[in-house]
Amino acid sequence: MDDEALRDVQARFGGLIDQEVLDRDGLAEAAADREFEVDPALGTDEVADELSRLFRTDARLNRVLLLHEGERVAVSTRALVCGTGAEPGRPATAGAGFATAERSVLPGRSTRYRLLRFQCADGMCGTTTYASFYDDRLRPVCGSHGEMTFAGVVA
Ligand SMILES: [Zn+2]
Repeated sequence: MDDEALRDVQARFGGLIDQEVLDRDGLAEAAADREFEVDPALGTDEVADELSRLFRTDARLNRVLLLHEGERVAVSTRALVCGTGAEPGRPATAGAGFATAERSVLPGRSTRYRLLRFQCADGMCGTTTYASFYDDRLRPVCGSHGEMTFAGVVA
């Protein structure tokens, strides 16, 4: 990817990314809690939805390194995606419905997050997302290929 392509990819992320980490050197050294491959087919709003879900799902995440076809392209932060007010280790935007769903599926585990990974069923797609619970009726959906496949427990 050349610099122009990198800027194009970054432009698609709009206000979701840290404007102080845009050049290659900064990206190479960037510290983050997790890497996240962004589906190139997604628009800004859809990327915002995915990141919002990711931050809601794992309260420990504060910085996520965005990958485009395996290359580091930007860093997104909880504050930029979820708004201000997020304190370290505290999911300020976790919806009540989300917590209820987790409790109903994993009784007795409400105090501990388990992060489940889902992958697009299309092997070439590479879209990955995370959820804190497994419910066959609420399986994550790839924007291009439909329902995603459970790919294991991360944490
Ligand atoms: Zn897909």
